[in-house]
Amino acid sequence: MPEDRKKRREMPQRPASERTRDFKEVPLGYTSEDARCEAARCIGCKNPQCVEGCPVLIDIPEFLHLLCEGRFLEAALKLKEENALPAVCGRVCPQETQCEEKCVLGRKGEPVAIGALERFAADFLRERGEAGFPETSSPSGFAVAIIGAGPAGLTAAGELAKMGHRVVVFEALHEPGGVLMYGIPEFRLPKEIVMAEVRDLESIGVEFRMDMPVGKAVTVEELLEGEFDAVFIGTGAGLPRFLGIPGENLAGVLSANEYLTRVNLMRAWDPESPTPVLVGEKTVVFGGGNVALDSARSALRVGGGEVTIIYRRTRVEMPARDAEIHHAEEEGIRFEFLSAPTRFLGDDRGAVSGVECIRMELGEPDESGRRRPVPIEGSEYEMPADLAIVAIGNRPNPLVTSTTEGLEVESWGGIIIDPDTGATSVPGVYAGGDIVTGAATVIEAMGAAKIAAEAIDRYLRKEKQAAGACREAAGK
Ligand code: FAD
Ligand code: SF4
Repeated sequence: MPEDRKKRREMPQRPASERTRDFKEVPLGYTSEDARCEAARCIGCKNPQCVEGCPVLIDIPEFLHLLCEGRFLEAALKLKEENALPAVCGRVCPQETQCEEKCVLGRKGEPVAIGALERFAADFLRERGEAGFPETSSPSGFAVAIIGAGPAGLTAAGELAKMGHRVVVFEALHEPGGVLMYGIPEFRLPKEIVMAEVRDLESIGVEFRMDMPVGKAVTVEELLEGEFDAVFIGTGAGLPRFLGIPGENLAGVLSANEYLTRVNLMRAWDPESPTPVLVGEKTVVFGGGNVALDSARSALRVGGGEVTIIYRRTRVEMPARDAEIHHAEEEGIRFEFLSAPTRFLGDDRGAVSGVECIRMELGEPDESGRRRPVPIEGSEYEMPADLAIVAIGNRPNPLVTSTTEGLEVESWGGIIIDPDTGATSVPGVYAGGDIVTGAATVIEAMGAAKIAAEAIDRYLRKEKQAAGACREAAGK
């Protein structure tokens, strides 16, 4: 392979010393010249493995070819054919374990920077004020309710609206976007990008009804009996798991959900925001995924002193994206590997003052394939802490599942579906995203929503019409 093809163009980024003082984005994006040169590295494989690695099957070689020719708008529209949220995915998708992992250039050098190029093209489109949606079909006369405005709900809404159906999204919070708004911080995903995607959906007729927790404000049954012919459930997995150790109720011990919602959705980092947030001099964060890293890096940015991530395995097993771990290291986040908390310590005012941890070693692989952490007897030690953030995973909120009769769920609360269609056990009700898989990724939620949207369209056009014909024949 020629030397110039082996290495990718680095994306410039803001220096760590500067970026830890604000919430502005860390990477700065490619210039047009960077994008053309990087796209030109693609050798246009006849049997492109990269496409196989993409959960929504974007025609990556054609996208790269258009970029290479400087046809940026067309390249972005190529992305939009398969991916409704490319500016989001270009920033947060784990490309290194998807399309880029499969790219043949990765065998002898670095794979094409497909994610960085996706971000470039999507930003190019947005900055020109183009929505990039193809023509929507003529109105079908059917209406679909979408529950939850996260990546799954937004994708299903876009697909169904393009097919000509009337779409209304019911969202429990006051802003749409799901984790994209309340979980992932501004410095990884500027909120304006999410809102631009929402405005695009509104421009093709999608209606958003906010502050509507389905299961409380209205039930799935009522939606189906009322104005809707089908329902898609995309309510995610937003219920935090806790450690279940003594002292967890002390003031200053928070779930990552609460912490990140305050900082991101309620913009507690902004001095103008009325929402307060605890600032620790010594913050500890428990967990090894993106949620733990986002919490730690946010804690640093709101003015926290020393921030330490405590993880029970080693850096290699951390589920967070490598680029994010690297950014956190550059920013001065401390890592305490092979360690797990056993109890929180409190002061006489009922506030957390420290945490007792125990050292771990790695044993045999567990069901996840990763080596199981095993406590080392007698190795307990204490660490001072005035803020503790628990980021050890989430599970589905049971509000919709517990109020929908006949809806089959897994023992852990996830909705059971037919994977080929997203259909649940209730006719006309479909589901996708984290509410089905448990906490996963943005692109997986979007891929599942696309499958469900196609199945809903088929259901509406075939079964509903047949039912209508039967009713007519019966004179009802
Ligand atoms: P969600 O995004 O959770 O959206 C569900 C929506 O439904 C929410 O808006 C919620 O308010 C709403 N809702 C819930 N119950 C109801 C109800 N009863 N009525 C009405 N509305 C309701 N993935 C990546 O690919 N890359 C990353 O870098 C990444 N980082 C992450 C960082 C954090 C902090 C978190 C928490 C997750 C991260 N993820 C990441 C995972 C990813 O965000 C999720 O897999 C994805 O958002 C799932 O989409 P969803 O639409 O299924 O659910
Ligand atoms: Fe291009 Fe890599 Fe895909 Fe081949 S695998 S078409 S080189 S991006």
